Amino acid sequence: MVLLAAFTALTLSLAPPAPDGTSKAADLRAAGPALGAPARMSKPPNRSRLVVRIPDAAPAIALPTIEGPADARRPLVVIDAGHGGHDPGAYNETLDIREKDLTLAIAQAIRDELLKTGRIRVALTRSDDRFLILQERYSIASKLGAGLFISIHADAAEDSDARGATVYTLSDVASDREAARLAARENRTDVINGVDLSGASTAVSSILIDLMRRETMEASTRFADILHREGVRHFRFRSPYHRQASLVVLKAADTPSVLLETGYVSNDDEAGWMATRDGRLQLAKGVAAAVSVYFARQSVQR
Ligand code: ZN
Repeated sequence: MVLLAAFTALTLSLAPPAPDGTSKAADLRAAGPALGAPARMSKPPNRSRLVVRIPDAAPAIALPTIEGPADARRPLVVIDAGHGGHDPGAYNETLDIREKDLTLAIAQAIRDELLKTGRIRVALTRSDDRFLILQERYSIASKLGAGLFISIHADAAEDSDARGATVYTLSDVASDREAARLAARENRTDVINGVDLSGASTAVSSILIDLMRRETMEASTRFADILHREGVRHFRFRSPYHRQASLVVLKAADTPSVLLETGYVSNDDEAGWMATRDGRLQLAKGVAAAVSVYFARQSVQR
């Protein structure tokens, strides 16, 4: 009888898994003692099993080329040109300037400045006018093992006088209503493609991932401060320069990430300035200086 009980349990454990495998394992554990099997025999076939749900696999994407020094120990920054393809982002009708074109040109200028240092490796999430969903953008940084992820955008506001740069870091709670509106606007990009993937990582629940995420958020804020301090020598910031919002593109748990709104597309002066070579160069110099300082500090701390 005892052997039969054990056998029954074993048979059950070999049966094809039910759709809900977790509750089946629980049933087996409950069945053991009820059948009167000795402790040794009644040991559930699946001992303490820890089920950690991980995010759905990111869509298969071609990883971009890493430029700069061949030494893989050199720090790597991924620059993300916001929008692209069928998603133009903000638009200045008077000057016919589209955010997706500005962000690409600025991202390329930042890359060029960083490559001049000869110490930092750089990859761009896109180098042409193509559409990427937000999850693809931060997945590229994670997969390449980047030390920093910077998403480049240009703002828009109803007030055509609004101007200046803002740096955003991730937070579940928006720092103000404007930050919440920005998140709603930038996150909408994922829905444009017909599939909303913004909730894909919400299933993750693990203390380790939480710890890593907290450390990543702290590093992101450190970089935001450095970006302001170095950037303000080259371009104008708004006040406050740092805001927080629930931006999907910043959700890589393992890569310090910021979203830089370089200025306002909706402001004719600023849109015109960002579209010039000098405007891009000033933005690039500020960002590149900040990246250099950030990585230099990190290597000192190690
Ligand atoms: Zn944008």
